[in-house]
Amino acid sequence: MVTEAQTIRSESRSATGPDRTFANRVLDVRDLRVSYQTPRGPVRAVNGVSFFLRAGERLGLVGESGSGKTTTALSLMRLIQPPAVIEGGQVLLDGKDLLSLSEEEMRRARFAEIALIPQGAMNSLNPMMKVGEQLRDTMRAHLDGESGARRDLRIQESLESVGLRPDVMQAYPHELSGGMKQRVCIAMGILLSPKVIIADEPTSALDVVVQRQVMETLGRVQNDLGASIILVGHDMGLMAQFVDRVGVMYGGKLVEVGPVRDIFKDPLHPYTQLLIGSLPTLQSKEMFKGIPGLTPSLLTPPPGCMFHPRCPKAMAHCSVAIPPLEEIKPDRWVACHLYNGSQP
Ligand code: SF4
Repeated sequence: MVTEAQTIRSESRSATGPDRTFANRVLDVRDLRVSYQTPRGPVRAVNGVSFFLRAGERLGLVGESGSGKTTTALSLMRLIQPPAVIEGGQVLLDGKDLLSLSEEEMRRARFAEIALIPQGAMNSLNPMMKVGEQLRDTMRAHLDGESGARRDLRIQESLESVGLRPDVMQAYPHELSGGMKQRVCIAMGILLSPKVIIADEPTSALDVVVQRQVMETLGRVQNDLGASIILVGHDMGLMAQFVDRVGVMYGGKLVEVGPVRDIFKDPLHPYTQLLIGSLPTLQSKEMFKGIPGLTPSLLTPPPGCMFHPRCPKAMAHCSVAIPPLEEIKPDRWVACHLYNGSQP
């Protein structure tokens, strides 16, 4: 099946593909577990998630709402707020575990080493402050010794790299269009040249044309910085155009990870198959197909495979045993009993 999004995806990035050596992993997330403490018990929003990100790579995290993708993104930055708590795991950035840093060390790592462009970022700009002041605040919090003139020069360079003129510094957010505000947020994210940029649904409030421009801007500044990107979202079309690999989340777990082309051409996990099958194609004149059933309750999750109540290929033991995420062929990871050899 060929989707419209696939036909317009840039060929250049996938021509060589990221190399597979362990050494070039910039981020290694291991067994991350995050719960929301509720009066009715813990809700396991992220339940043993492990993945890695290579230097210069673009990784997409996709899934329905409630799948845990945004909670994962916020946890990598340690920006989770109570009643959510990070219960365990490791977030290794160049070998340094972000989860074991002090609050002050983590504050310094944000923006400088790992930056987040949050969901609805453009609405998070302070309406009472000029754009330049907001960018200066970010700089001041990290570069104490730098002069005001050097800070402003760096801010201007950041704004120029996202296609904005320096006079935007004098503007209030309400004087800018949605696309310009989102570019300001990208400029803020790259101010200190982080190694990893996490973009959580960065274009969700924008029309299709501006969305494309913003994604092109994000891709260009990522290439200029040599940074890696985690793109969080539910838009498979956007993923197909932008990322190198995709991780599919369901019920707080990663159920499949692989190169984006392979995932679209040959999805392995039944959930991914339904997700890809529900996308419109250039040839298709059929009605949109949804995925039958409801997303699982994370308060009282189903036993065994979280997807078994909705899975058309479920077997008897799927409701008993949890399938682990395993590499079943080079760079293809899947959590499903159809592949992991544990079928009776
Ligand atoms: Fe379906 Fe079983 Fe695979 Fe889960 S483990 S996705 S229920 S076949």
